[in-house]
Amino acid sequence: MTASPAIAAPSQPLDAAALAAHIAADPGLSAFFGADMANLSIREIGDGNLNFVFHVAGGGRALAIKQAMPYSRMSGGARALTAERLTYEKLALEEFARHAPAHVPAIHHFDAERALLGQEFLSPHVIMRKGMMDGVVYPHFAEHMAAYLSACLFATSDFALTASDKRRKVARFAGNVELCEITERLVFTEPFTLSDNNRWTSPELDAEAAAIRGDEVLKQAVSALKLAFLTRSDALLHADLHTGSIMLTETDTRVIDPEFAVFGPMGFDIGMLIGNLFLNCFAQLAYETEPGGRAAYRAFVLGAVEEIWTGFAARFAALWREKRTGDAYPMRLFPEAAALEAVLARYLQDVLADALGFAGVEMIRRTLGRAHTPDYDAITDRQRRCLSEKLALSHGVMLLRAPRGGMSMTEATDAARRLIGAAPGR
Ligand code: ADP
Ligand code: MG
Repeated sequence: MTASPAIAAPSQPLDAAALAAHIAADPGLSAFFGADMANLSIREIGDGNLNFVFHVAGGGRALAIKQAMPYSRMSGGARALTAERLTYEKLALEEFARHAPAHVPAIHHFDAERALLGQEFLSPHVIMRKGMMDGVVYPHFAEHMAAYLSACLFATSDFALTASDKRRKVARFAGNVELCEITERLVFTEPFTLSDNNRWTSPELDAEAAAIRGDEVLKQAVSALKLAFLTRSDALLHADLHTGSIMLTETDTRVIDPEFAVFGPMGFDIGMLIGNLFLNCFAQLAYETEPGGRAAYRAFVLGAVEEIWTGFAARFAALWREKRTGDAYPMRLFPEAAALEAVLARYLQDVLADALGFAGVEMIRRTLGRAHTPDYDAITDRQRRCLSEKLALSHGVMLLRAPRGGMSMTEATDAARRLIGAAPGR
């Protein structure tokens, strides 16, 4: 009998003792915790799909130490995924920190070999998705995200960078193929066809799912957006900018977890974000304990969608007019700024059209694809969950089927208001 080849057991994440030993052996980390090195409190707090995250505290200081295993956490070791993703996360955090330092966590440690990334532990921040489910209003969130998006997207675009610098940066992130493949498949492809990975509330949503699979106009719109994601390199994207990647308080907003970072169309980040806000807005209906109990919260969410866009556009326009140091539309060709106002307006219109389309894709894929969101998973009343899911699907379909460039952001939020107003039982 021949012995079957040994199957390598997936390597295990660090336990507290091993992490404490790593910290003690690292001069930077041991200096960070100082005299309290011997009494560190270490606990695993990760709730994401891919990685492990440790809260390490001592001497009144704390770090979030993220560990990437050579597999996805969710798969329990079955799905191989190189730990290189953590290097992309670190590079992206460094890049974004140059442009929007107030809105990313600081890095305190990086060990590529062990795939460990030590970040400032954000406290008392909470994951935005959770705060929204609890009905917490964040008055500065939209303004902060407009600042983050405009600064990061402008600064990594050809409007700010010389062609050579831009090409070097594009090349640096182009290797993040594994995580891009997840986006390409789980966001843009599988939800729009039959796949074992898909799941939805069945049989209630079977007809909607079949109609989407059979909708040629919609699938062509989705495919055009996918082609834009595949081929364009407008700016460095976070590329996973949902409300689970934002940690905040009422006054402070930070964007975490940019491990999917890659160059792509600017509208992708904006669209993912507003898609998740729309999703939450429709889910709010199901959280109501009395009719209209979450109406004010929905108004906050849709107001935030509008403000993110107007804030982004205004700040981007200011950067375009004053800080255009890159190779695209170079200042020296256009000494009269006014001559380019129409070009700028057209560019922003295109970003908006992309963003609305990507938002539509996000709403559909979070309802019919593999990865759903806690906003909906937490709704235990099946009938109410279906109602919210149907509204999200209708809104997503409407965004994708609308003629490209024909919709303003307020038309998109008004459409959401109308859908909610006309919902059964309202
Ligand atoms: P994954 O890549 O697996 O999705 P995340 O980066 O999203 O991991 O982190 C998982 C969780 O760990 C977050 O939802 C949050 O609760 C916590 N976390 C991550 N980074 C920090 C941080 N810098 N400060 C505090 N908590 C954090
Ligand atoms: Mg995450």
